[in-house]
Amino acid sequence: MRVSRCTANKGFLPNRAVKCPFCGDSNTQVTDTRENDDGDIVRRRRRCVGCDKRFTTYERIDLKMPHIVKRNGNRSEYERGKLLASMQLALRKRPVTTVALEAAIDRIEARLLAVGETEITSAHIGDLVMKELKKLDKVAYIRFASVYRNFADVDDFSSLVREVQPQSRPRRRETDTPDQSEHDLFDG
Ligand SMILES: [Zn+2]
Repeated sequence: MRVSRCTANKGFLPNRAVKCPFCGDSNTQVTDTRENDDGDIVRRRRRCVGCDKRFTTYERIDLKMPHIVKRNGNRSEYERGKLLASMQLALRKRPVTTVALEAAIDRIEARLLAVGETEITSAHIGDLVMKELKKLDKVAYIRFASVYRNFADVDDFSSLVREVQPQSRPRRRETDTPDQSEHDLFDG
């Protein structure tokens, strides 16, 4: 048995040549195909035309977010939480619902996946964020753009905003407003 991978935009490829694990022949026939309950893994029974042995392959759609390449060349994992925190910071005290924000992030992620690349620049993500913020809330858009355009990394946005907007520094006092403590959840 082996797990074969295919990229999201190619989907399942039932007729793709699969080498027989016993003799190496690439001429195999699919004798049975079934999906798991979620429909995201396809199990195929195959018969090798060369040696007549049977084996099973599992194919699943590989929906991995691309790695992020920062301006300095460093790579990092995509983290939805970081993106959410940055956008929440830009949207601080703005009349935008969590549902609308989550939907915006879903759209950004869908675009990142649609690119079909294993790596993507932080500048590209920053542009996608700005497009979404522009639709959600003009003030948040300007906040994000004014800081982001100068610094170019979404990852660093949170700390940078705290530098340029002193009132957003975490304060652990009884004067904390509910949304202030919400921000604290995402700090760091
Ligand atoms: Zn064979």
